[in-house]
Amino acid sequence: MRILVVEDEQRIADFVQRGLESAGYTVDVAEDGTKALERIHDSDYELMVLDLMLPDMDGLTVLEKTRARQASPPVLILSARGGVDDRVKGLEHGADDYLVKPFAFVELLARVRALLRRGQATPEKLVVGDLTLDCIRRKVTRGGDVIDLAPKEFSILEYLMRNRGRALSRTMIVEHVWEMEYDGLTNIVDVYIRHLRSKIDDRYPVKLIHTVRGIGYMLEGSERPVEQPIPA
Ligand code: CA
Repeated sequence: MRILVVEDEQRIADFVQRGLESAGYTVDVAEDGTKALERIHDSDYELMVLDLMLPDMDGLTVLEKTRARQASPPVLILSARGGVDDRVKGLEHGADDYLVKPFAFVELLARVRALLRRGQATPEKLVVGDLTLDCIRRKVTRGGDVIDLAPKEFSILEYLMRNRGRALSRTMIVEHVWEMEYDGLTNIVDVYIRHLRSKIDDRYPVKLIHTVRGIGYMLEGSERPVEQPIPA
């Protein structure tokens, strides 16, 4: 799944790119309208995430020119302009959805998935050991037991499962699940991990969520020790 992110503000472009890549998508970034149109012309994208205020042209112009092509991907507009008029204008110009900045990454991911799903009905299910997470029905089971998770717990678990076997720092988890401007409160991650463990691990002999000392957390189904020794 290739996604084109058109965004001139590097911090946001990086944030969106990193997040979408860890959700398993291939992401290209274009920092202005001209580059965006070149990329759209040269390769096939399943989705375009489009900022409206670009240095060289209005995002709506990019949208119009993209829509003029025969095969044109769905477009999700990202904009600081959140007024009703702006949204309507974006949708009238052929955008498929509209997200106002600042936004939480989970919100963006949900919109991206919804737009990509329109094209093809691929059920998204993540499985690690006897733990299953159904991204569409938003249902989690372990060994056949249905487990109820709060939305943030679900998002953290999904992120861990998509990155199974990979240590994720608290900062990565915060940036992925909470508002992008969420600084200095990474210990909230520990609180949520504790809740998650009480629901998906405590009652089961094989523990799936592992603490990686000095880094953060990792989800792994195997029983090999995953905690890294810290050099003295
Ligand atoms: Ca901009």
